[in-house]
Amino acid sequence: MKAMVLNDICDLKKNRSPLQLKDLPVPTPREKDILVKISVCGVCHTELDEIEGRTPPSRFPMVLGHQVVGRVQETGPHVSRYKAGDRVGIAWIYSACGSCTFCRQGRENLCKAFRATGRDAHGGYAEYMTVLEDFAFKIPDVFNDSQAAPLLCAGAIGYRSLRLANIKDGQNLGLTGFGASAHLVLKMVRHKYPDTKVFVFARSEKERDFALELGAIWAGDTEDISPEKLDGIIDTTPAWKPVVAALSNLNVGGRLVINAIRKEDRDKDYLMKLDYPEHLWLEKEIKSVANVARNDVSEFINLAAQIPIIPEIQEYPLESANEALLELKDRKIRGAKVLNLS
Ligand SMILES: [Zn+2]
Ligand SMILES: [Zn+2]
Repeated sequence: MKAMVLNDICDLKKNRSPLQLKDLPVPTPREKDILVKISVCGVCHTELDEIEGRTPPSRFPMVLGHQVVGRVQETGPHVSRYKAGDRVGIAWIYSACGSCTFCRQGRENLCKAFRATGRDAHGGYAEYMTVLEDFAFKIPDVFNDSQAAPLLCAGAIGYRSLRLANIKDGQNLGLTGFGASAHLVLKMVRHKYPDTKVFVFARSEKERDFALELGAIWAGDTEDISPEKLDGIIDTTPAWKPVVAALSNLNVGGRLVINAIRKEDRDKDYLMKLDYPEHLWLEKEIKSVANVARNDVSEFINLAAQIPIIPEIQEYPLESANEALLELKDRKIRGAKVLNLS
């Protein structure tokens, strides 16, 4: 089968074609695996983190890609949920141990044995992949394959952060940073919590205008003081300054959720401005978001079908994966990028 393969981490400024087209054997489904004939795989920022070594693959060569949609081609001997021809999606969560305390509570995103699709196991930049049947998702009919793929990542993680923000309908929510995940959160909130007011903090005026268009009640710069205190805030920025600003805007007893794999060190000094009475006193909480559990993916994809959230798509052939990744890095973004394998 054709696959775009990463052989080693590299600097994308120097190496403009990090992935190589290779001919790999089609994997064989074992036990509870399904073999999926891939039709589409979304292109995500996380692939840039993998290629440049910020979240490196656990082995090489690796087939990247964790927003996969395709059809079951073959099933392992103990598969019961799917049959050949069924449409499935595969997300960032590839597998977990299934028996630890976290796994038994449906918090398998925190499992020590958590494995990620396209980082710890071959992912979707290929014609075929295998996955355990319990880690594949049914895709609602309203989406075609290309529309469904981008929902499997940013949407699911956004859903998890909203869940962790722990707000009730009518309480105020803040969104610090307004990228793909945050704008999906805003759409979810409008549907799930119609009486909740959303306040958006973003550096660019374009993003602020877009937020207001999508139904935010107020939009300001990242360090602005919001006109009302916020019961929950979701931060998706890579910086520290917005964290301190968000804690000022947080209501007593409120929760700040940090949805970022890592924070940059550049403005870490800003944390010295942290003032206990202003930023933390009276039971303000800070929580990070890690990975996604299966519930997040399946609940979000069904919610997206109800709302509905239909992403704008820009398609590339598999062989143009490098081009798609470089455009993503250079922020040439016209809709969610997906590799079309059909
Ligand atoms: Zn992703
Ligand atoms: Zn586990």
